[in-house]
Amino acid sequence: MTATVEKVEKKVQREIDSRAIPEKFNYKKNIIALVKLDDYEPENIRNALKKLIELLGIKDYFKGKNIVLKPNALAAAKFTFTPPEIMVELKKLIENEAKEIIAGDSTMTKGFTNTTLKRSRIKEMCENAGMKVLNFFESKREKIDLINPPPAAENSMYLPKEVTSTDLVINLPKLKTHGGYVYTGAVKNLFGLLSYKMTMHQTHKRKSDFQKMLADIYFAVEETNKSQMPKVLTIMDAVIAMEGKGPRGGKPRKVGLLIAGFNSAAVDIVGYTLMNGHPTDLEAINSVAERTGLPVDISKLKILGENYTNYIVKDFKKPNVMSLRKDRLPATGAYAKIAKKFTSISIKINGKKCLLCEECVKNCPAGALSKEEDKIVVDKNECVECYCCGESCPNGAISARMYLFKALPYLITIIGVSAFFLIWFIIQLILSIL
Ligand code: SF4
Ligand code: SF4
Repeated sequence: MTATVEKVEKKVQREIDSRAIPEKFNYKKNIIALVKLDDYEPENIRNALKKLIELLGIKDYFKGKNIVLKPNALAAAKFTFTPPEIMVELKKLIENEAKEIIAGDSTMTKGFTNTTLKRSRIKEMCENAGMKVLNFFESKREKIDLINPPPAAENSMYLPKEVTSTDLVINLPKLKTHGGYVYTGAVKNLFGLLSYKMTMHQTHKRKSDFQKMLADIYFAVEETNKSQMPKVLTIMDAVIAMEGKGPRGGKPRKVGLLIAGFNSAAVDIVGYTLMNGHPTDLEAINSVAERTGLPVDISKLKILGENYTNYIVKDFKKPNVMSLRKDRLPATGAYAKIAKKFTSISIKINGKKCLLCEECVKNCPAGALSKEEDKIVVDKNECVECYCCGESCPNGAISARMYLFKALPYLITIIGVSAFFLIWFIIQLILSIL
């Protein structure tokens, strides 16, 4: 069979497959369990997890399964990453049912992943609890073709062998903000399954494409599913969330909940709503929801346990969502330049806090950062606004700001000139009448 024929057949097959949503995505897809949890005391975590499992009615779900726990690891303050206490208590709770439970993640580079797993104490605590902890940079990768549902951004993905061969991935994200993408939750947490993730920032410069690619990872994992039940279960830590300059340099904000469900988009709809955001703003949520037949509407979810409206943090500080809307604006034309100014983020290095360690330079996927004499310099033309630099800076010296203030003079000029002509026109009109 020639490559062209094979390609056409694959396309036709995708079109046929896309007509129906695979059964596994319908399983409890609009059901979310919310359980109150005020702190990370092991006993309280255990009780909250037990309640989540009861509410979801999945006591037997773990039976005989090989399970991979996917935390959000980070080498920073405690409220920035998935607490290993949750991983340990979860393991204790399901170990009698499960066959084997391991954990794994990848952050920007192999070395940085080792650092994050160590500093977050995920490696130490999980290993002490009898779990193998993987740095996915060291894993063999398997190519997964995205077929059903059809891909949104990538035709195939390379996932760690341990993930493709396992029965269940328990996705353990943290509810927090992200300087480049506003929010990082359930769908985005699976980005840590790609050890080649840094290249993705380069190949998906448009934020909407990048977010669709994140959604593709969720479906790539499900593509390796051998059963008719979902392979991804999400339990989100929204006990102490992060607001402001996430994913690393923000401030802790108590929400006091664990959120669980099988559909990652459903978990994110609840998570982002608790941050007082509009989930329809986020392409990653829209993309997973659309392809699993889930309306991006919290009123259409069946939320068990706590009443979510009591937990919405009205003044939750979020990065500006305008940077995500840049893709929707015209790429060329008279207003494109000005519009870009209004919707882009600008990377700022705080010279007083910077230690010149060059972690940001090493982790910038676009090569937009360099050390020049005694400071770090940002090449704005190269920057893809991924905010990996902010995530890697050990000293909170990097922040993302909207270009808005820089664009303000343009706006004032436009308004001033328009007002001048309007007044001139009105005066001319009055004079002509008189
Ligand atoms: S990572 Fe932070 S501290 Fe290190 S050079 Fe970059 S800005 Fe400075
Ligand atoms: S400078 Fe920062 S935000 Fe810009 S591409 Fe590099 S890592 Fe990403």
